[in-house]
Amino acid sequence: MVDGLDKSSSTILVADDEPINRALIQRRLERAGYRVITAQNGREAVEKARAERPDLVILDVMMPVMDGLEACQLIKADDLVRDTPVIFLSARDETEVKVSGLSLGANDYISKPFKAEELLARVYVALRLKHERDLLRRRAEEAVMRADVAQERAMTDALTGLLNRYGLQHILAREMSETRRYNRPLSCLMIDLDHFKSVNDLQGHAAGDVALQQVATVLTDNVRGSDVVFRYGGEEFLVLLPETDLEGAISLAEKIRHAAHSRSFGDGERVFPLTLSAGAATLWDNESGNDMIARADMALYQAKEQGRNRVEAAR
Ligand code: GH3
Ligand code: MG
Ligand code: MG
Repeated sequence: MVDGLDKSSSTILVADDEPINRALIQRRLERAGYRVITAQNGREAVEKARAERPDLVILDVMMPVMDGLEACQLIKADDLVRDTPVIFLSARDETEVKVSGLSLGANDYISKPFKAEELLARVYVALRLKHERDLLRRRAEEAVMRADVAQERAMTDALTGLLNRYGLQHILAREMSETRRYNRPLSCLMIDLDHFKSVNDLQGHAAGDVALQQVATVLTDNVRGSDVVFRYGGEEFLVLLPETDLEGAISLAEKIRHAAHSRSFGDGERVFPLTLSAGAATLWDNESGNDMIARADMALYQAKEQGRNRVEAAR
């Protein structure tokens, strides 16, 4: 193992039509610790490259059935194996052949007859470059995955598992563009628990937390699959209702209000009733999604003013 490159786990495909050459190269590479597979011509080399995914391909240029240049071309055109480094090995030491090999995407070129040290040195460099590139790619993929996880975590409320306000802005932008594009209605409900401060005061903060989780369940149980529920703030929730007009939003709010009103909350030891108030709004032309939310919030305020445990609509 040198610089993270483990020779015994590196497989090299050697394609040469001369059995003696093949055996010679194979022996030199195996003695250096590599795993070696062989092919007798270009076509077999391409097949084995696809089937066995070696870390490096060494191609003789002049071979029957399919020559090394064509085999290289096929390997470099195949998404699955195109990143495999290719080294040409040939008795033809003409610049022209070298240039066409390299222009086909080969990484290096060794002229026959070669010294074993040169072969091994070039093989090692090609493998190490590939190893480092694979490592960089893996790290980049991991970084993207970590960023995805972090973003999802940042958009999720830890207590209820609902999307939070940051998540709302993401979903709202998406729903607004769908709504405008297809000229569909979009509505929302702003929901706030009634006298929740006294729930905390009388039942304790832990029971309050349980109640918030139970309210989240009431909400998700009562909406459609395309509706999205958010924890907007402490004891405030927002439901986004795509393809729903104001009347639809109001009747859903009534259903939710009734569901909360007709069950009890708490964790068994402390059981208590809980009601909620809701404001409903539907998107106007030339209005932003956040404007609609602000109007739903004003309707919620009216519901509170008019006694709580009720639904008001922004008209
Ligand atoms: P109103 O009917 O006017 O909405 O009265 P309210 O008591 O619900 O409203 P207020 O805004 O005065 O109080 C909200 C309470 O919600 C106070 C706060 O402690 C509680 N709260 C907010 N977030 C959480 C939380 O995560 N857990 C618990 N247990 N309580 C919370
Ligand atoms: Mg409240
Ligand atoms: Mg509140």
